[in-house]
Amino acid sequence: MMPPREWLKPPRSLLTLLFLVTFVSISALGWLGWKLLDQERMVEAQRARERLEESADRIAAIARGTLAETGERLGAWLISPPADGKPEEGVLLTVNAGALTASPSHRLLYRPAQRLQVDDDSATFADAEVIEFQQKLPERAIDVYRRLASSQNQETRAGALMRLARVFRKLARTEDARAAYTQLAQLKGVRLAGVPADLIANHAIAELTRSPTAAIALKQGLRNARWPLTRAQFAWYWSEASRLTGDIQPASAEPSALAQAVEQGWTQVARDEAPRGQTTVWVASQPWFLIWRGAPDHRAILVINPESLLKPVFGSDVVLAAVDGEGRVVAGRRNRTAQRVVRTQAETQLPWTLEMTSAQSLDAAGLVVRQRFLLLAMAIMVMFLIAGAYFIARAIRGDLAVARMQSDFVSAVSHEFRSPLTSIRQLSEILALGRVPNDDRRRVYYETLVRETTRLQRLVEALLNFGRMEAGVRRYRFEPLDAAALVSRVAAEFEPQIAPFGRRIKVGGCAGECTIDADPEAISVALRNLVDNALKYAPECPTVEVQWGVKDSQVAISVRDRGPGIPDAEKRAIFRKFVRGSAAEKANVKGSGVGLAMVRHIVAAHGGDVTVASEPGAGSIFTILLPLGVETK
Ligand code: ADP
Repeated sequence: MMPPREWLKPPRSLLTLLFLVTFVSISALGWLGWKLLDQERMVEAQRARERLEESADRIAAIARGTLAETGERLGAWLISPPADGKPEEGVLLTVNAGALTASPSHRLLYRPAQRLQVDDDSATFADAEVIEFQQKLPERAIDVYRRLASSQNQETRAGALMRLARVFRKLARTEDARAAYTQLAQLKGVRLAGVPADLIANHAIAELTRSPTAAIALKQGLRNARWPLTRAQFAWYWSEASRLTGDIQPASAEPSALAQAVEQGWTQVARDEAPRGQTTVWVASQPWFLIWRGAPDHRAILVINPESLLKPVFGSDVVLAAVDGEGRVVAGRRNRTAQRVVRTQAETQLPWTLEMTSAQSLDAAGLVVRQRFLLLAMAIMVMFLIAGAYFIARAIRGDLAVARMQSDFVSAVSHEFRSPLTSIRQLSEILALGRVPNDDRRRVYYETLVRETTRLQRLVEALLNFGRMEAGVRRYRFEPLDAAALVSRVAAEFEPQIAPFGRRIKVGGCAGECTIDADPEAISVALRNLVDNALKYAPECPTVEVQWGVKDSQVAISVRDRGPGIPDAEKRAIFRKFVRGSAAEKANVKGSGVGLAMVRHIVAAHGGDVTVASEPGAGSIFTILLPLGVETK
């Protein structure tokens, strides 16, 4: 017979099946979840792309608007030049009747070379120069130049002052030369051989006086584009100023790049007959955008860094790059890794292709939240599945245990019936056939018949009682009962069966009266079951002790044996119906497994409890605890 723990184990195949079903369900759930997440990611990517497409169109429209607006502003500036300091970014070149003006002028270090109208003043100064160089009469030349220097004509004055200073320098009359140059420096807007007269004067003063202040002022003037110069002129005067100040330093990078861009773009723009246009030029790997309005001789051109022009289209949500026909980034920055949306020049009517990527990664907050929610839902479902599988396993285990115990019960009860029935049948046959040799023998046979039928009757009654108890229809008739009398009566019942085997029941208890309110019949059955078990499971032990006493206003009737004891693991289970313990198996004792369940039922119906204290190998003490009867109280 199997111990109770093993009875509780469901078959392995059923568990495997349950495990497989659970595993497959969880895998399917996981796969479904993964697919859902994937789909969610795809949908989010699609949405992000749509958002990006929308942004791309919006940005292209803004860029178009910005360009159109710039064009309009150019048109307006063509009619009335902008206020000083305008435009804020880049430089505006205005060509009017062939003359080039830069605004703000200080941003442009030098201008594109123009065919300048160089005044031919050789005739004016021819006579004086003959006196100066051929006749070598400087004093006379000075007189002539002085006279010419008071001319009303600015160019003549400038030319005369310059020549006057030259003669003074040759004569080493430095102070006079300086005075002449100082006068020359007053003449603004006059050019001598294409060079601004005041620049010539300032340079000459710096050189003549060797004054660092003058040299620095000259350099400062060049840096601030005080004089409209060609690139060659600027380069020469810049190197001169650097020589005089003693430092060799290039002009600051940005303005010179702008001047180079203007120079480079000018060659294209000046020749272009179209009344409006735009182009991009590259100077030292930096792009510059030129946009113009008007005819070649009456034209406004804006030279600007594309980045500053496109400033209004840069936003925080999109990474934008404007790319020219050769794939060079004109403005913004490229992000090749992310999802890209491209708007070509043909689509946008812009001079560049626009490439846009989303500035936010796909793991946008919304997606993360949704994914987390989905994962949580999946986790909860998986937990439910596992919990479900666990409870199903438990239920199966319980049902199987009950089924197995019931079948064991049936076979055990059949065995219990078989042995008395067999002896009754055999003895009845012997008696019926009259084969009994003498009266003594016959008496023994009759006594055995009585004992076996009583045993059968008890068995049947016990089963019927148990059935009634289980169904809850067992009625108890409570009456005051003396515990001592109860114990003695039950012990006496066992006496005839055990005395021949040298065994006995030792009874004892407290001296005082010890009454309980109990159904005498039922409580006797309970006590009898305990005593019967003690005798059954401790066959080697000659004495079973039954004690009664009062403890905490309860009557305790305990049955003690010195048998095999009960392992801790079984102490609770043996009180359940049909459960049989290891002692039953070891001692090969027949039984139905309902004895202790009945005891528990009966005692509970009396408002009491039954406990077991046992040490394996040292015996067991079963104690019935019942409320003290009213009379004793
Ligand atoms: P049964 O005696 O018919 O098996 P019970 O319900 O009376 O059914 O007892 C249940 C189990 O408790 C027994 O199978 C046995 O293993 C264990 N048991 C009961 N009384 C004792 C005892 N005095 N000593 C050892 N084991 C006991």
